[in-house]
Amino acid sequence: MVVVGVDPEKLDEFCKEAGVNLAPAVGNVVRSVKFCPGNALCTFGLQDAIGIAEKLKKFEGLNLPSKMKIAVSGCPNSYTEPAVRDLSLMGTKDGFTIFVGGSAGRKPRIGWILAEKVKPDKAVELVEDIIEFYRANAKKGQRLGDFIESIGFEEFKKAVLG
Ligand code: SF4
Repeated sequence: MVVVGVDPEKLDEFCKEAGVNLAPAVGNVVRSVKFCPGNALCTFGLQDAIGIAEKLKKFEGLNLPSKMKIAVSGCPNSYTEPAVRDLSLMGTKDGFTIFVGGSAGRKPRIGWILAEKVKPDKAVELVEDIIEFYRANAKKGQRLGDFIESIGFEEFKKAVLG
């Protein structure tokens, strides 16, 4: 959710009244998780994008070697553009497809498909393993996709899938 037009001096009061927590939009951290309505509100939805995004919010603000954009889409229509985000989950009828290392902007890259048909709880565990491995091993300033390229996708996959 993006809120505009709030007086910065009244931001804390606004968040308290609206019952929202602010998530980071800048810096070398896990950024605010982007998600679509998923099967809770969209007739095309195949998975609960809102529910899993809520679980992923615990990673927001975590310091990393570079920024990390996480996206969740409830189906392959991909409204949150999972193929070009650092780490993302795309719903299918059998679970989530996990993309890693995608990027938009100046150096676009389609992410690698790390795993398919992943059940929601397992997907959250996998996100945690990916973040931990990246945090412990990437160089400062290296986005996830650059890190994967530097060690090779197969090595990365072996490390995070065990
Ligand atoms: S990505 Fe799929 S589930 Fe999400 S809003 Fe678009 S059509 Fe609906």
